[in-house]
Amino acid sequence: MKTDGATPGKKLRSDISAARYRPVKTALVTGGAGFLGSHLCRRLLGEGYRVICLDNFSTGRFENVSDLTDYQNFSLIVQDIETPLARINESLDEIYNLACPASPPHYQRDPIRTMKTNVIGAINVLDLAELTGATAFQASTSEVYGDPLVHPQPESYFGNVNPTGPRACYDEGKRAAETLFFDYARTRSVPIKVARIFNTYGPNMRPDDGRVVSNFIIQALRGEDITIYGSGRQTRSFCYVDDLIEGFRRLLQTPENALGPINLGNPGEFTVLELAEKIIARTGSRSKLVFLDKPVDDPQQRKPDITEARQCLGWTPAVTLDQGLDLTISHFDDLLRSRAASAFTEAAE
Ligand code: NAD
Ligand code: UDP
Repeated sequence: MKTDGATPGKKLRSDISAARYRPVKTALVTGGAGFLGSHLCRRLLGEGYRVICLDNFSTGRFENVSDLTDYQNFSLIVQDIETPLARINESLDEIYNLACPASPPHYQRDPIRTMKTNVIGAINVLDLAELTGATAFQASTSEVYGDPLVHPQPESYFGNVNPTGPRACYDEGKRAAETLFFDYARTRSVPIKVARIFNTYGPNMRPDDGRVVSNFIIQALRGEDITIYGSGRQTRSFCYVDDLIEGFRRLLQTPENALGPINLGNPGEFTVLELAEKIIARTGSRSKLVFLDKPVDDPQQRKPDITEARQCLGWTPAVTLDQGLDLTISHFDDLLRSRAASAFTEAAE
């Protein structure tokens, strides 16, 4: 089957085939064809899980999981998470709820839908967890802290979210989902784990995802202007995807009374300008910087306090920004070259 040349898929293929016939557990991954979901599906298959990937392909891509469909332990359900999930008549051990667009332009395109995905999706996942006895994992976000007034952000910080702004569909949707997770745990004894994910990047992001790392890399590789929103002095802390997925797996292995929420992110903090300069240097690009309007409510600073993750999970990110950028640049470089080659072949036919 055709793949997009992503190195992680190639690297894990032998692990997956070694584990394909004897599943140790069964996991449902909602949003499994998206950026993070596709890495999680691979990781779970490599650990010997049977994996059911559910996705409506709104921002996910078949290319992200196409090579997995060859494996007996992998199945794909094309479904919206807003539809009740009880028809998934399977015995489940773990449900990972990742279904939700994560990039600001994507989640703001249909904000009412984003809120529904978060709230109705969480209810459907939690009802299924109650029915099956599975542990429900929620992919929450550093956006629950809004434009934070406390820096770095510990889990105890309640946040500074504008409830009526254009980011609220996502921020408040994710906050409501956290509330639902904790209420199902308290009132219905559903086992839950909640991770608050900080900006994560890597292979399998869409080239048109719209988030800063993929935008800058694609622009640099194409020699286009690098679009800095605002002054570029706002900060983010960027985590490489493999580190994040390791954090997910460690969280799932904690005792039942360890619910979270727990921050997962790389505490290295960089301005958007610093990120642009790194990407220009590492691609050898001649792209110029252009300064555009800053989006409404764009957080000015963000950095996770990961004391809890260090203590409870023994987890700390291992991949530096430079290393992670090189891996991601190489992925997008391969992708752009293979697309250019197929466009050339089609034009010649
Ligand atoms: P993504 O957009 O690549 O993946 C989201 C996936 O969910 C896509 O495959 C999409 O098609 C699917 N989806 C969306 N709405 C759906 C619906 N209603 N029903 C079924 N499937 C649906 O984004 P990502 O970066 O992989 O993020 C995955 C999860 O992690 C999201 O919940 C996001 O909020 C959370 N998160 C990600 C980051 C990050 O930096 N990547 C940070 C914080 C939180
Ligand atoms: N950003 C930017 N240029 C882009 C995309 C994003 O300057 O082409 C900025 C954006 O305004 C924000 C930061 O980069 O300050 C991170 O944006 P992203 O959309 O990746 O994530 P989020 O804002 O959700 O943290």
